[in-house]
Amino acid sequence: MSDVISKVKKVKDAYHMNGGLSAGLRKERLKQLKRVITAKEALISKALLLDLGKSEFEAYVSEVGFILDELNFIKKNIDSWMSPKKVSTPLVLLPGKSVVYSEPHGVVLVIAPWNYPFQLCLSPLIGAIAAGNRVVVKPSEVASQTALIIQEIIEDVFEDDEVTVIQGAVEETTTLLKQKFDYIFFTGSTSVGKVVMKAAAEHLTPVTLELGGKSPCIVDQSADIGTAVKRIVWGKFLNAGQTCVAPDYLLVHESVKDEFIAKFKSTIKEFYGDETKLSPDFSRIINQKHFDRLISLLDQSKVIEGGDHDREGRYIAPTLLTDISWDDKIMEDEIFGPLLPMISFSSLNEVIAPILDHPRPLALYFFGEDSSAEKQVLDRISFGGGCVNDTMIHLVNPNLPFGGTGHSGVGSYHGEKSFTTFSHEKSVFKQMNKVDLPLRYPPYKGKLNWIKFFVG
Ligand code: NAD
Repeated sequence: MSDVISKVKKVKDAYHMNGGLSAGLRKERLKQLKRVITAKEALISKALLLDLGKSEFEAYVSEVGFILDELNFIKKNIDSWMSPKKVSTPLVLLPGKSVVYSEPHGVVLVIAPWNYPFQLCLSPLIGAIAAGNRVVVKPSEVASQTALIIQEIIEDVFEDDEVTVIQGAVEETTTLLKQKFDYIFFTGSTSVGKVVMKAAAEHLTPVTLELGGKSPCIVDQSADIGTAVKRIVWGKFLNAGQTCVAPDYLLVHESVKDEFIAKFKSTIKEFYGDETKLSPDFSRIINQKHFDRLISLLDQSKVIEGGDHDREGRYIAPTLLTDISWDDKIMEDEIFGPLLPMISFSSLNEVIAPILDHPRPLALYFFGEDSSAEKQVLDRISFGGGCVNDTMIHLVNPNLPFGGTGHSGVGSYHGEKSFTTFSHEKSVFKQMNKVDLPLRYPPYKGKLNWIKFFVG
């Protein structure tokens, strides 16, 4: 563990000696990062194939392309984000000026999960660099091939006192969390999120926690079922359901249930062919431990589509389960795999109350054309973010801050929100010396009425 401590110390010492990264260096490093990622695209894809059986298409769209897009967006906007912001000054303080400076927090720790191991490591990293921080990165040990290529890329682009990579699992992360950082950005499970928040509290370190949970998908009677099913199947089975914002479970109005099931079956065939197992477009479960966890949730008597699996190949078919009740085991925790339980309902109130009874979801999806039903859902249920008539693509818009609420997370990022998350807003009032109103100085006698006049 001394290696972990000495690598962190090197980054901290550099921050204490030289501060954060200058505006010019940030831009230069982000440019280099784009060049190296582009050059190593095939190697990243290969690592994602080995770790998760991800197709080249998914690897690009949800990992490499996502990061390149974010780098382009930052390049376009970084100058305006970095520039000091003049804000208005109340009459009583004139002719002074008020300015907000964005400064880096200092040394940031980024801890990443395995499900989108490249994107979820690099996206916070580039936000932290854009804001001028030095960074310690801990990729997920579970996606081990991707962790290696991440280290290679970072070592190609950054000096080791700008960004350093710590490989490892619980032991290494525990050692890391004992160090004092200026900010911790964690993506992973709610249970480990609590461990991170406790450790951060010891040093009063601010945190962003990007966690998980059960994200409901409501299909109203007013939904266009054909389109809804396609978008749900895509969102649920991308990365074999191992996506934090995947629809976790379905709430389908009973009047459209049969149509939904029929369309679901035909869509699986349309997307993955007669045998999903042979499709190059369907990922595998990350490891046997997660495979076993998922199989323990699979009640074959409730399977209406899919259900077959192969432990050796870490394959579980896209599976729809019906006649599920809120008390079933599969409704307890985030599923994080290609099992989709369905509960039917006859009125929206029937589903809103139980959703409110559960921890706040990271995402929620509503399918329907009825605007009053949509309003009811959006007004009454608190959730991290989501879509109306789609799944997951709210992540793609950099103008939408991404994050959870309650058990699904603390804070948010993406686009400008990444920059503000990784910055401290330093407020400065610049006083002028030409005028010096005597009103605030003692003796106060006779001055209070003037103050009251200004307050109004
Ligand atoms: P995880 O919490 O097991 O691991 C995340 C990271 O924490 C890894 O780097 C791991 O090495 C480290 N870690 C694990 N146990 C630890 C411990 N006891 N002490 C200190 N560090 C520890 O999560 P995971 O299995 O990698 O990822 C899946 C979870 O992440 C799901 O719950 C999913 O919903 C969530 N997730 C959330 C988002 C989001 O953006 N909100 C994105 C992806 C995944």
